Amino acid sequence: MVSVKIDKALLDDVLSGAYTKPDEDTQLVTPLVAQYHIQSRPLPGDTINPTVRMLALTFDDGPGDLTPKVLDQLGVYESHATFFVLGHLVDTYKATLQRDLREGNEIGNHSWNHPDLRSLSPAGLDQQVLGTQSAIQAATGGYTPRIMRPPYGGTNPAVQRYLEAHGLTQTLWNVDTNDWLDRNADVVYGRIMASAADGRIILVHDIHPTSVQAALRAIRDLKVQGFQLVTVSDLLKYRG
Ligand code: ZN
Repeated sequence: MVSVKIDKALLDDVLSGAYTKPDEDTQLVTPLVAQYHIQSRPLPGDTINPTVRMLALTFDDGPGDLTPKVLDQLGVYESHATFFVLGHLVDTYKATLQRDLREGNEIGNHSWNHPDLRSLSPAGLDQQVLGTQSAIQAATGGYTPRIMRPPYGGTNPAVQRYLEAHGLTQTLWNVDTNDWLDRNADVVYGRIMASAADGRIILVHDIHPTSVQAALRAIRDLKVQGFQLVTVSDLLKYRG
């Protein structure tokens, strides 16, 4: 691995505005250059080939201490994923969320602390869903998730209408690895690989060591098999 230092002026037309504000040069550009391996972190959308198989890996219930390992691997294999995060963890893992976005991944809303949304009053829904939107916005300098995954997949027409009314697309999954139940990396890895197919949304959790081990192997091997690993929004754009 070779690290290079690049004059910011050379990056002016490839960096988004958030990285080029003159008064934030030092804070934002320096860590970006330090961590960013240019050839391995294309922005999502720029490099997707619609004619090539693609799927979305999704990581629920974080962020957690293991999330950076997933981000490292996504970077190495020029891939992206979606993280459905819990609002109560957002402040603690603010730096991880910022890194998710900086590296082109997507953040989705997964409620504040994982209740079944079907059991909630309107005020309860506001706390769980809008409270999490606000926390993510505060932690990331204004990023607003556009997708929401109800905990347990627990939804009904009222929940779905509520989400839509707040600009959120309800996003479930095609493949449940049951990784929270079977804490065995080989088993979880096998389920991911066996179910991988074009257009699939695969659910794992980035809070269990076994799940993260499985995901690291799967990211590598799915790439080797020729899959593009894209965010949920990109998948919906091309395969929705
Ligand atoms: Zn969950």
